[in-house]
Amino acid sequence: MDNKVLINKIIPFSSVDGPGNRTAIFLQGCNFNCKYCHNPETINICNNCGECVKFCKFNALKLKNNKINYNQNNCVNCDECIKHCKYNSSPKVIEYTVSTLVNEILKYKNFIRGITFSGGECSINHLFITQFAKEIKQYNLDVYVDTNGYIDFTSLNDFVNIVDKFMLDVKAFDRNIHKKLTGKTNETVLKNLKFLIKNNKIYEIRTVLIKEIDYFDTINYVVPLIKDTNIRYKLIKYRKYGVRKKYKNLSAISDDEIKKIIQLFPKYFNFITV
Ligand code: SF4
Ligand code: SF4
Repeated sequence: MDNKVLINKIIPFSSVDGPGNRTAIFLQGCNFNCKYCHNPETINICNNCGECVKFCKFNALKLKNNKINYNQNNCVNCDECIKHCKYNSSPKVIEYTVSTLVNEILKYKNFIRGITFSGGECSINHLFITQFAKEIKQYNLDVYVDTNGYIDFTSLNDFVNIVDKFMLDVKAFDRNIHKKLTGKTNETVLKNLKFLIKNNKIYEIRTVLIKEIDYFDTINYVVPLIKDTNIRYKLIKYRKYGVRKKYKNLSAISDDEIKKIIQLFPKYFNFITV
């Protein structure tokens, strides 16, 4: 059976989604609801309410048989539809089968090292990614997965084996802080972190640094786990761009605070990037 997936966006050439030049594929749908999410329109699958149609001035959206019909050729990417969706969704989503996505990627094949799946939360679609990876690897492309680690990977052998490397968010070590930030607790994330390290499957770990949240606990937990590996630890300064209005009360950490982190972990800064 050819699995299907909803794709929010494909960036044909990206240099920030893993090593080398890569095609980044953003899947629709997420199992978290992070306060600092920069693309909240990827969180939910469209419920076809039709509210956004009237805001499209370019005849790119229609409601046909109670389903949103999106015409990519007419769309000018003004994003008025997304601004007016109250459901953290987007009507500009395209369904791909494994074979249609493989054909799309083959257009870029000669210019990329691999593919990175992101989201939303792409691991919700682990069956699709597994089937796709089996196909695309025949063309000597590697497959990376950018994930929040909420699905238990320890029981997904086919998926973990076929994916070359994971980029894992460790949003917070403290269970309650994690829940406050994302809506979900973090037991499985921490279990996946150890499991993926043990199996040499992590390329990069990421933590977003927010002034109002205690991030030292998280850094203190992650660093000893990876100190004897070649895993990168990327500390990302929180930015307000794209964040929903109701969560704009969070703020970025200062340069002084970054200096403080560097002083605390000087010998690890060959693999920590800020
Ligand atoms: S994108 Fe949002 S507003 Fe538009 S039909 Fe879907 S749920 Fe409704
Ligand atoms: S982004 Fe495209 S579909 Fe949405 S309102 Fe603008 S033209 Fe219409």
